[in-house]
Amino acid sequence: MSILIKNALIVTQNSKRDVKEGDIYIEDGKIAEIGKVNVEADFVIDGNKRIAMPGLINTHNHVPMTFMRGIADDVDLFEFLNRVWKVEENMTKEDIYRGSLMGIEEMLRTGTTTFVDMYSYEDEVARAVKDKGIRGFLGWAVVDEELTTQGGTPVKNAENFIKEYKGDELVTPLIAPHAVYTCGEETLLKSKEIAEKHHTLITIHIAETRKEVYDHRKKTGMRPVEWLDKIGFLSNRVIGAHMVWLTLHEIKLLSSKGVVASHNPTSNMKLGNGGAMPLPEMLQNGMNVTLGTDSVVSNNNLDMFEVMKFAALLHKNERWDPRATNAQMILDFATVNAAKALKLNAGSIEEGKLADIVILDAREPNAQPLTKDNAISNIVYSINGLNVEYTIVNGKIVYKKN
Ligand SMILES: [Zn+2]
Repeated sequence: MSILIKNALIVTQNSKRDVKEGDIYIEDGKIAEIGKVNVEADFVIDGNKRIAMPGLINTHNHVPMTFMRGIADDVDLFEFLNRVWKVEENMTKEDIYRGSLMGIEEMLRTGTTTFVDMYSYEDEVARAVKDKGIRGFLGWAVVDEELTTQGGTPVKNAENFIKEYKGDELVTPLIAPHAVYTCGEETLLKSKEIAEKHHTLITIHIAETRKEVYDHRKKTGMRPVEWLDKIGFLSNRVIGAHMVWLTLHEIKLLSSKGVVASHNPTSNMKLGNGGAMPLPEMLQNGMNVTLGTDSVVSNNNLDMFEVMKFAALLHKNERWDPRATNAQMILDFATVNAAKALKLNAGSIEEGKLADIVILDAREPNAQPLTKDNAISNIVYSINGLNVEYTIVNGKIVYKKN
């Protein structure tokens, strides 16, 4: 199938960060040509008064939990987890599939083309990913054996899932040890071994709350990142979600090992985690920062436009400095930085890249006025997911506004 997007304002996110007017021709899942294109296509999209931008990449989610929206608002993390676990006790595989469908529909509707997930029974999430045509980096959640209700051992289940989906066009399997308070040294190192054996990424929650840091220090004498480094877990395969409570020493450790950050500002603020991820210091030390929604239970939606805005505002406020973030930096987090973290040939609109593209309707009042100069500002600060008119993944239209 071929698609021609005519006369759009293209936010390329190429190395020069060009914003230019032109056409985009998509063929066989890839961006074939950009500029003034004169070819016949199977489908033509009118780009007039529209923005074409790279699809957004959400690096932290638990998508099956979408059906639990609103069950744990305005309560502390202990009560939050109690309510979630209560629902999960009676959850079926069909619930996981249905919840995933719901969440994926919302992501496509709001311009996300790729997401990273962590949950049990990712085979059900994979089924939903294939049905809907989104790109999923799916991590089977792993905890210590005595904590699990899954049949079989979690690491074995995770490895079987990786073997099953290795090489799939839309599903990229990875392994997801949950956190330092649910995974001991043996589980973490076994997860690492599986990731190395099958050349996959690893995702894990790190230093989300101050309590996690204090409890871990009481248990081991070390802060979570120091301990993860000591046991040899950290590497450039690791995407650490949250990382709110870090010292400068830990940032330097993470940076030296090439660990990627998934920043989840909306979830962190809603759960009242306090403070803020030390973004300026992470960037000064060369860390690759990306963005995630976390599940809808702590968000309560999956709109990455909203996450971009929250990320930008949180750090300005935290540092008493509006220069602490800027729109281009934030858009990079959700596109090129995330693509680099996932080693995915996407994140920018350039010839030869995967055709993961979002078309925004800039005729809507919240996107006006629109010029080349304010397009990125509009994307981060004024536009939201409901401006999305088309979402294209792998060269296929997977969402179209009625
Ligand atoms: Zn999470």
